[in-house]
Amino acid sequence: MLAVITLGLVILAALGFWIVLPYLYRRVNVRNLEAQCRASNTVVLTYDDGPSANFTPELLELLAEYNAPATFFVLGVQADSNSEVVPKIAANGHEIGSHSYAHLNAWKDLPWKVANDIEAGVDCLNRNDVEITYFRPPNGKITLATLLQTLLKGRRMAWWTIDSTDTCPETIPPEKLAETVKNAGGGVVLLHDFERKTNKDRNRFVLEATRQLLEMAKAENFSVRTFGQLQQNA
Ligand SMILES: [Zn+2]
Repeated sequence: MLAVITLGLVILAALGFWIVLPYLYRRVNVRNLEAQCRASNTVVLTYDDGPSANFTPELLELLAEYNAPATFFVLGVQADSNSEVVPKIAANGHEIGSHSYAHLNAWKDLPWKVANDIEAGVDCLNRNDVEITYFRPPNGKITLATLLQTLLKGRRMAWWTIDSTDTCPETIPPEKLAETVKNAGGGVVLLHDFERKTNKDRNRFVLEATRQLLEMAKAENFSVRTFGQLQQNA
């Protein structure tokens, strides 16, 4: 009986270190981001899972219309397929971070596969002449291993504070999203710029949400900054 209890405690402690500790780290980080956005009146637009051949350039045009910088958390597999788009993002003055190579989920995939996926994503961007500081974990999931890997390699985790809902089963109206960001005193907004093959409405949602957020930022005197600029301002 004692052996079973001891084993149970050991498993609980291991799970605590593996999952719960990094989860708490994330919670603290998100709170800090919220405070940084409020203190500096900042909106950060972030786009994950791209770049895509047609949609990302369309988004770049919209951002250029407002002269607004954004942060793109690029997937290596997409960068390899659409390598001509990566320099366009950089040339437009946007920031590029890594989102791994093949979007492996740290809670579901084997730790060494996740570790390799993270490095492959960074290597891919380096091959495209992009040096990265920020890493956004796929699905926002990290373990103690991914956290240590990121920090020991001198990189920093990049979370978000407000989900645009563009990958949720139902989206909220773009105006409501802009209102939420306004009422929060700014925020780091999660959006996606991968090519939707079947659900083109979601691409239109991302464009409309971006436009509404930028209009709101202009009307309410928010600064639109990259993720890195927010950190420098903190
Ligand atoms: Zn993603």
